[in-house]
Amino acid sequence: MINESKVASKEGIQVTLPQNRIPLLKVLSSLAAIFTLLGIWLVFELRNGYDQVLKQANYRAAQRSQILGQSLRTQILASDYVLRDVASRIEIIDGVFVDTALNRDKTLSTLLKEKGDTVPNFFSMVLFDRDCKFIATASGQNIGTRSKPELCEARKKFKGSGPMVVYVPGNKSASGRAALVISRHFSDVKGQFLGGVLGVIELEQMQRWFDSLDIAAYDSVSLVDNSQLLLARKPAMPFYFEKQMMTEADMNSLSDKYAKSGIATTIDIDGLERLFGIYKIEDVPFAIVYGFEKLAILKQWRKRAIELSIGYCILLLLAGFVVRSHITVLRQHNEISKNNALLRSSEANFRMLAENMADIVWQINSFFKVKYTNAADERVRGYFNSEVIGIDIREQFTELGQEIFQREIDKRLQLEKSGNKGLAMNFELPMRCKDGREMWVEISSVPIYGEDGEIEGYQGVARDISLRRLHEEKLIQANQEMENRLLEATEEKTELQELALHDAMTGLYNRRFLDAAIVREITLSEREKRPLAVIMLDLDHFKNVNDQFGHSAGDLVLKALADIMRQTSRESDLICRYGGEEFIAIIPNMSASQAFERAEIWRRQLEENSLNYGGNEIKITLSAGIAIYPDHGKSGEELILCADEMLYKSKRSGRNRVSIA
Ligand code: GH3
Ligand code: MG
Ligand code: MG
Repeated sequence: MINESKVASKEGIQVTLPQNRIPLLKVLSSLAAIFTLLGIWLVFELRNGYDQVLKQANYRAAQRSQILGQSLRTQILASDYVLRDVASRIEIIDGVFVDTALNRDKTLSTLLKEKGDTVPNFFSMVLFDRDCKFIATASGQNIGTRSKPELCEARKKFKGSGPMVVYVPGNKSASGRAALVISRHFSDVKGQFLGGVLGVIELEQMQRWFDSLDIAAYDSVSLVDNSQLLLARKPAMPFYFEKQMMTEADMNSLSDKYAKSGIATTIDIDGLERLFGIYKIEDVPFAIVYGFEKLAILKQWRKRAIELSIGYCILLLLAGFVVRSHITVLRQHNEISKNNALLRSSEANFRMLAENMADIVWQINSFFKVKYTNAADERVRGYFNSEVIGIDIREQFTELGQEIFQREIDKRLQLEKSGNKGLAMNFELPMRCKDGREMWVEISSVPIYGEDGEIEGYQGVARDISLRRLHEEKLIQANQEMENRLLEATEEKTELQELALHDAMTGLYNRRFLDAAIVREITLSEREKRPLAVIMLDLDHFKNVNDQFGHSAGDLVLKALADIMRQTSRESDLICRYGGEEFIAIIPNMSASQAFERAEIWRRQLEENSLNYGGNEIKITLSAGIAIYPDHGKSGEELILCADEMLYKSKRSGRNRVSIA
């Protein structure tokens, strides 16, 4: 059976393939390049962003530490101002501190208290002599107390133009509490240290100031001295107070950067990683360290980094989908290509088969228009392919062919209606050849169904059967001839059979028949107890007839006697030509008298009826002898012998007579 798509593909119907397919390698390499670039950009962007965020944070931390440092410096300068103010009012006369102001009713302690109160955070003001012994205090207490000798030595050595600012740990301070001490010193004309006035900012106070600062959660701000001892911090870390914030090595590595403008670094002291801005306060041995928590700072950046990474991953995923669908498309493409190749090869096979077939392979549509025929059509009927494609197939049939075709189509539609779909049908019809000949073809046809299940056309094979039909016709003819011959032979046989039992010339039974019949008749007569007559005749002087008129005349006489005997006999009488011109009649159930009478009839008729032969009248007589069963013999031989004797008797007695035993 021909698959329609294969036939259809003759007209170029094939699954079309997308032409703009890109090789997988190209897609993959392009995507890899894009994603590498995108990845590099992403890393760069995030690194850059990270650096930027840190840089900005560092800048802001530095700024904040600077602001706070300036603020602290301002406080120290304000304190220094008060110290200078107090110092300007005091004169040392003969080693005694004298208030040089006009209003002398005040004691030195009162002066110190009054002036000290003008500066917030000042815990105390003290006037001390050349031995660093307290001469007067704002609180009026601790007079006579001495500063620690090393501190006193430092004061004596201090040569700066500004105030001397030092951090005094609790174990070295006169009050026993850690404090910042700001002092202004007096000297004589020789530059000899004479004592001075000092202001004390207790570290607790400094801590309170730090506590009051408004900073973000997780930010930190610290005050450290020259040797990195932590003096105050928010959030407070009492454990670290008066301890070094960093090692000597750290400090050295940072020392270059430890400049006026402040630096930024990351030092972690409370488990949180921070970015620090450090500001070294001018003329004061302290620095403000402001720290931003790194995680908080990087929150925005991290959010952006996560977003970008997610975006990247989504793009990667999308690319994956693209690649996957591309692979699917390529696979499908390969599949289709393979199928097309298979289709092409199977189509080529089909075409090879179809074109080289001796039979005509054909396909028509539902309107009986020819869609396809193979090369056999040209070989068999002489029509070129181009001459039949598109025309109504029925035009190719003879009138009888068209009738047969219509009948078969009706049959097909009937079959379809009754649910017998797709059956192969075989029929024969005469087609026309190009040279005008009529050719009988045997058609095998199957319907082609469309997608809707309706018949879209038919296809099949037509085989030239003219030779077969010729042979069939010849065979029929030969059969007919055979039959005729058989009939003739049968007739001949009957004739022969007849001949075997009859005498050819007279048509009477012959001697052979008689020999058999007489036995049968005797048996019958014996059984039925009836007589049986045997009459024997012989023509008188028959030889003369032959001699006188010829042998044919003799024959005529023989036939004439046969006729006489036949006409005057019953069906059951057996009349035989016994030989030459002798006749025997076997007559069942006949008595002697009856037999005599019968013989007499024959004798008289022959005697009375002369024969005309060639204008000559032939006159002849007969002699007869009769024997009767069972009186004159028991067997055929006895009876015939007896009859013969009687015949001989008639002859002897003068002929033309009948004798009976
Ligand atoms: P008869 O019997 O009276 O004594 O005389 P006859 O002439 O009949 O004697 P015979 O029986 O000797 O002769 C018989 C003759 O019959 C001899 C033969 O030529 C002739 N004959 C026998 N058969 C045929 C036959 O079929 N046709 C013809 N024309 N003649 C026959
Ligand atoms: Mg004779
Ligand atoms: Mg005779």
